[in-house]
Amino acid sequence: RQAEFAKLRDVPAVTADGTRITLLTNAGLAVDLENLDETGAEGIGLFRTEFQFMVSEELPRLNTQTALYKLVLDAAGDRPVTFRTLDIGGDKVLPYLESEREENPALGRRAIRLGLDRPALLRMQLRALLAAGAGRELRVMFPMIATVDEFRAGRELVDIECEWARRRGRALPALLRVGAMIECPSLLWHLDALLPLTDFVSIGTNDLLQYMFAADRTNPLVSDRYDPMSPPALRALAEIQKKCLETGTPVSVCGELAGRPLEAFALLTLGFTRLSAPAGGVGPVKRMILSTDLPAARRGMAALLGSSAGSIRNELESLARKLNV
Ligand code: PEP
Ligand code: MG
Repeated sequence: RQAEFAKLRDVPAVTADGTRITLLTNAGLAVDLENLDETGAEGIGLFRTEFQFMVSEELPRLNTQTALYKLVLDAAGDRPVTFRTLDIGGDKVLPYLESEREENPALGRRAIRLGLDRPALLRMQLRALLAAGAGRELRVMFPMIATVDEFRAGRELVDIECEWARRRGRALPALLRVGAMIECPSLLWHLDALLPLTDFVSIGTNDLLQYMFAADRTNPLVSDRYDPMSPPALRALAEIQKKCLETGTPVSVCGELAGRPLEAFALLTLGFTRLSAPAGGVGPVKRMILSTDLPAARRGMAALLGSSAGSIRNELESLARKLNV
């Protein structure tokens, strides 16, 4: 199997009917960078910047942050990298950061909420990102955006940091793209307001589904109670894809789903063409892409989305088998 996937490394991810799919990988530490070449991923669709903070015994300094981001951009070369700003707080507590105990950490002051409450922390990170991205393309996205105002506030901090760098004569990124993660269900009913403000969005299905189904992703007693391959989950994803298509907003899926062949097959049928998978998922997902006849798969999926069943996993498996995926 591994050898089979290795052979696919340099094969472009194109479906059997000729649709080009962009297959990226997720990363978080310098050691992950070797996966880029090894898997043949076309870039990093999600760089989890909090990993550097989590393995550090003290708050990483500006220079330390900048050095890592530079290393990542250098390793990626021409391939795009999307840096997600700190997703800490909640259950990801850092010993060197003062925090309050929260009864419901998943619903607590995590990610962008912490960043906006402690703007010095977020601004330092944005400063490091802008410095590392000087003269090249820089893509930054905010996690756990639940309201349009949070995105506006985050973007404002980016503008403030750009101005700070400009006043000091520092070089800025040649191209700066600012995006939002869609992982809070509230945004599904405010995409018309959010999408015009963003340069791109990426769907974090791990969190989006835990919030949709009110099932803590870290609690084994409840995390398996629903199937992501269910009509409500898939219809929500289809809705986001449709709105992004209508507004011309680039959209990717970067949750774990994107790295599992059957789930990624479902994503293709919903119209997604940009997936970011964990390194181990890139090969298997690419193999699925190469064998998928998209128009036939889409027709099959359209019938399944109307199902009243709690899960359409078995039907999806039969569809994939019937189409020789
Ligand atoms: C997600 O929620 O799907 C996601 C990609 O982010 P994380 O898993 O880091 O919360
Ligand atoms: Mg998330």
